[in-house]
Amino acid sequence: MSTPPSDVRPIIIIGSGPAGLTAAIYTARASLAPLVIEGEPSSTSDQPGGQLMLTTEVENFPGFPDGIMGPELMTNFRAQAARFGAEFITEKVTRVDFSERPFRVWVRDEEYRAESVIVSTGARSLMLGLEAEQRLIGHGLSTCATCDGFFFRGHEIAVVGGGDSAIEEATFLTKFADKVTIIHRRDEFRASKIMQQRAFDNPKIEMLWNHTVTEINGTDKVESIEVTDTVSGAVSTLDVTGVFIAIGHRPNTDLFTGVLDMDETGYLETVPGSSRTNIEGVFACGDVQDHTYRQAITAAGSGCMAAIDAERWLESQHA
Ligand code: NAP
Repeated sequence: MSTPPSDVRPIIIIGSGPAGLTAAIYTARASLAPLVIEGEPSSTSDQPGGQLMLTTEVENFPGFPDGIMGPELMTNFRAQAARFGAEFITEKVTRVDFSERPFRVWVRDEEYRAESVIVSTGARSLMLGLEAEQRLIGHGLSTCATCDGFFFRGHEIAVVGGGDSAIEEATFLTKFADKVTIIHRRDEFRASKIMQQRAFDNPKIEMLWNHTVTEINGTDKVESIEVTDTVSGAVSTLDVTGVFIAIGHRPNTDLFTGVLDMDETGYLETVPGSSRTNIEGVFACGDVQDHTYRQAITAAGSGCMAAIDAERWLESQHA
């Protein structure tokens, strides 16, 4: 490959969670001057930075023995990438064209070109759509039992959902909570039978069938929830101090429909053991390609893999 035109960057990174920013740190230190198109602030956070912007204390990210607040952790990631020369655009990518190289990425009408692209657009937890969710996320309301279960030692809490995630999270949460109520909108779970049985056998778990959560009460922390019987319409209050929403996730992959290979639920497919997508020169990392682990540390690890894969691929193109 000949030397690319000067407006063609070596690398564009789309997304700014732990995966994208780790990829930015590594590629910036490799003198690849990455352009990070980091997305926009969400309705609950004044900065982009992925799902950790929606959490409070993070106690399981190695290196922080006293814990660290999620937004502070992401601010640190970003500052570390900027220190080595990563550039940032605080907007969303609106369109991509990966059909030929250099790859093209648009932010509204502005076009950016790059020899390689790392996709780290993450995933989002589905939410119930209640106004209180935005106020209370990270304050008793959570979408990650692995992350936040520890904070509910001795509490009575609820888990919403009826799939494998809800049952797995409820079972895990009984390590900490005194009582876990699984609230499900139907009268049978869709979770695997073996996981259901584990929950039925657990004395700390109770089922509330045919109910939906219609309000979460509390100003700065969860104090109780209102549940509605889907059969009778009766509304009642459940005194819980924690609510875990486990009604599924959606990867942020709309931009790549018909462009990058995805599984049937929309997660990007990568070559096992690597971050390579079906398009040579395009790499994917973090939750956008991981529906199993979904942790900041695994996302960061896969961001490192993507950076190294991209760096080696770029080297091979210029050899
Ligand atoms: P899921 O299988 O899509 O289940 C979502 C659950 O949430 C369903 O029970 C659904 O109810 C309920 N739900 C959806 N929208 C709702 C709403 N607005 N209000 C109330 N309830 C709502 O999602 P998942 O449990 O996250 O699992 C996703 C995939 O990962 C599945 O393939 C699952 O098998 C897999 N997984 C596997 C494991 C494991 O094997 N260890 C662990 C976790 C996840 P309905 O049932 O009425 O639709």
